[in-house]
Amino acid sequence: MKIMLVNPPRFQGLSVIREERCEIVERYSVLEPYSLLQLASILREEGHEVSLIDANGFDLDYNEVMQRVRKFGPDIMIFRFTPTTFDHDMKLCGLVKRFNSEVMTVGLCWTLTSLAEDVMSSAEALDCFVLGDYEVVVPRLVKYGPDRVEGIAYRDTGDIKIVPPNADDSVDLDDLPIPAYDLLNSLEPYYINTPTDEPFTIMYTSRGCPFSCVFCTVARTKWKSRSAESVIEELRYLKNEHGIGLVSFFDETFTIDKERTLAICKSMREGRLDINWYCNTRANLLDEELVKSMASAGCKGISLGIESGSQRILDRVSKGIDLKDARTAIELCKKNGIKVLCSFIIGLPGETWSTVDETIQFVKDSLPTGVQFNVAVPYPGTDLFESAVEKGLLKSSDWRQMYQHESIVGTDDMTPKELNKARIKAYKALYTHPVWYMENVKHVLRNPDDLGLAVRYSIKIINNFLIHRMEHSH
Ligand code: SF4
Repeated sequence: MKIMLVNPPRFQGLSVIREERCEIVERYSVLEPYSLLQLASILREEGHEVSLIDANGFDLDYNEVMQRVRKFGPDIMIFRFTPTTFDHDMKLCGLVKRFNSEVMTVGLCWTLTSLAEDVMSSAEALDCFVLGDYEVVVPRLVKYGPDRVEGIAYRDTGDIKIVPPNADDSVDLDDLPIPAYDLLNSLEPYYINTPTDEPFTIMYTSRGCPFSCVFCTVARTKWKSRSAESVIEELRYLKNEHGIGLVSFFDETFTIDKERTLAICKSMREGRLDINWYCNTRANLLDEELVKSMASAGCKGISLGIESGSQRILDRVSKGIDLKDARTAIELCKKNGIKVLCSFIIGLPGETWSTVDETIQFVKDSLPTGVQFNVAVPYPGTDLFESAVEKGLLKSSDWRQMYQHESIVGTDDMTPKELNKARIKAYKALYTHPVWYMENVKHVLRNPDDLGLAVRYSIKIINNFLIHRMEHSH
């Protein structure tokens, strides 16, 4: 089979992240289409002829994409789409079908899997929507066709058929081949948050999260992990073949298994990989031994979802974190020279102006290196979504409006407009707080390698706040 994988073009000139749970427009990051590279590699191993277009990464428009599609002449076209760029991404299907109606169009989007029927009804040119692990479902779909595969929505003589994933069909991450980086012309376009001089990529060492945060699309999913050996093998390839200097581990919660994390760090140190890296985790999954080990293995940044400075809200959304532990984790990271980026959600159930002030106070007291304030988004499949639908606040077709900078659902005490204002208020409180700047100057004095990054980051936040009012970015 001839299979073309496409990461669609940018949206209104802005970069889009279409990567598993992270499916957003993001002004300041251009990421490799890792999951499509992974799929390309798997399909190639199965003997298919594979081509890949990263239109977002290389800033290609639909004309350029279609020129390549026509030249390659695929039997199957696989692409990723996101909720807010839905119509823009689906345009690809229409164009491909107009070129050749026989091409099977296959879409991947983690956030909308619980709304498969709506997705299929809203996108006539989409033949199949993958609902299970793409590494398992797509190769079978290619081999057997849609009517003999589980974990898929597809059309059958005019009807939409939805076949849920088989729980036993889980992927073993250690079995996956290294993603097909050779299908990208270069790694130059890619960076996270602010451009750097060194080649950068994202990668996964685990997938899923067993915690129960009511706003999260990944909550209560099975945590699957790769062995330290498999992680190191991929890092070594990235270093040797592509000169990678910075990796962002895109796992939801990198440090769930402390022993595995320590083993990865040990192997990185012993292998002298000389790669700097970032990861995401929870505040209660860090301790002194772990943070020290991570720092000595090249960890330069940790993202923590703190979500709120109000313990009452944290308890109400089942975050399972004590604010005292959050403060300790932030302190530990800073003490060990690791930048700590904390994200907060304005508008979780129970939010009032007073709890917003508690969040602002928490940030001013704990002084993380960087902060991200989003508004609460009732993503499909989450408890937050169910309760918004129950209260009649949301229609399922509202997914196109699900931006993290613009609220569509208020709380009992705050309207969406007030939540938007509260978000800007929180940023303003931090960006006009001299002690925060002094804290970051101290970090740069202790870690002079971060000077360039600090300058670029400062320019970014000034632009972002004054010009873009924090839209489509953090
Ligand atoms: S800990 Fe993070 S990834 Fe896990 S459910 Fe909560 S928000 Fe989601």
